[in-house]
Amino acid sequence: MAQENVLFRKNYCVCQKKAVLLQPILKLDANGKAGNMIPVDFIESMHQQMGNEAALLIKALETAPVTSIRLNSKLDVLTFDCDTDEVPWHIDGYYLSERPQFTLDPLFHAGCYYVQEASSMFIQQALKQYLDPSSIVLDLCAAPGGKSTLISEYLGSNGLLLSNEVVRQRVFILSENVQKWGNGNTVVTHNTPAEYGERCKHLFDCLLVDAPCSGEGMFRKDEQARNEWSLKAVKLCAERQRAILMDVWDALKPGGLLLYSTCTFNEEENEKNVEWLAETLGADVLPIDYEPEWGIVEGSVGYHFYPHKAKGEGFYLCALRKHDEPLDPVKIKVPKKENTMPHPEYLPVMRSWLQHPDDWAIRYSDRFATAYPMKYKEIIEWLSTQLTCISTGFGLGEERGRGIAPQHSLSMLKDLRKEAFPNVALTREQALAYLRTEALNLPDVPIGLVLLTYESVALGFAKNVGNRLNNLYPNEWRIRHL
Ligand code: SAM
Repeated sequence: MAQENVLFRKNYCVCQKKAVLLQPILKLDANGKAGNMIPVDFIESMHQQMGNEAALLIKALETAPVTSIRLNSKLDVLTFDCDTDEVPWHIDGYYLSERPQFTLDPLFHAGCYYVQEASSMFIQQALKQYLDPSSIVLDLCAAPGGKSTLISEYLGSNGLLLSNEVVRQRVFILSENVQKWGNGNTVVTHNTPAEYGERCKHLFDCLLVDAPCSGEGMFRKDEQARNEWSLKAVKLCAERQRAILMDVWDALKPGGLLLYSTCTFNEEENEKNVEWLAETLGADVLPIDYEPEWGIVEGSVGYHFYPHKAKGEGFYLCALRKHDEPLDPVKIKVPKKENTMPHPEYLPVMRSWLQHPDDWAIRYSDRFATAYPMKYKEIIEWLSTQLTCISTGFGLGEERGRGIAPQHSLSMLKDLRKEAFPNVALTREQALAYLRTEALNLPDVPIGLVLLTYESVALGFAKNVGNRLNNLYPNEWRIRHL
């Protein structure tokens, strides 16, 4: 396939639209299952659910998955060495005709785009239709952060996002992705749905439950999903999804918006759960606008993405409005704890690193300064007494020696004032060495702290101490395998 250089710009794309060539990768044996094969019980259950159309779905599951990315507003122009096409339901979404080695692209590490499955970007349509960006949103099952970064972008500087992950090992990648996205409007937490339901009553305007599911929609991407699937797993997933919804339900305001999604096809985990929820917990299903050519299929409630009809993996989304009931929100008591600045002289220095310093509240604790949206200062400070917060807004400064140094998270922030630091532009090879936390040997770097950039995008900080350049990229984020 001919390679071409593609220029992306915000809101439009200078590229040729070309069909993606799909290669068959799966073959069923006589028993319908072998190695990475599609489970025969799944094929049968889809036949029961969809009739003859199931054959088209199964055939599509034998083709290669589609690669897609969503651009960050951090960047206006992006180049890929392959053909591209627009994802029709998200203005920043693009299909790539080939899967590049994203690890080798410094802009990927700088959060300039997120590699996100195209179908799931459809939540943008529901947000646009039903949610004012000045809202408080909880993304309950958020790791690794595809939908959280999408919601964070939708809310911008108007809203607040709580991005939660209950599985400990997954919460750090979530925090990393949220920080790299760079809006500073997100608090990452590690709590159970029940803790949210009990401690944050009627707090949220919108709740996204992107539920853990049997993963049928990921069959062509993920061998583990095929191997772990069984009818019993579907039943267990459906029960767990109902428990999650029940536990978190109180956290949603009366009249609030619930977005329920899965990446599976079966009705047990989708329509039946939504119908149960609407009846038992009290909510009305809402229609979501879409264009017929997108290939979306309406279920009895909610919307399905089937890979034989829509260009993407399997996905299901339903929007619901919680019934009105007397508002009885949790009382937010702002903690009395003094926000002491041990070194008040650091404050103007840190503020000088930001384009809009007045938009951020700054809290100092144990040598570290954290910043979060001033607009939600009280609520965030109260939330930090109720929940296990992994990251709050962004890390701004850190006391080092007899001074204050910026934290890495600041370099990812869109509100960073880049001119506050000497900028040093890196080549691709130098950028990759930096991201591997290797020692750097760069000529003509000013003494002291510098901001390293690649294609004008901030990658992080380094410090020239005279005889060497200290690499300050976070060790836990470094590229490990190249
Ligand atoms: N929303 C994510 C995204 O767009 O990147 C994907 C979320 S994935 C479909 C479901 C998430 O639910 C996983 O991160 C999983 O760890 C989490 N999870 C598993 N069991 C859970 C439970 N009992 N309650 C809440 N979340 C759970």
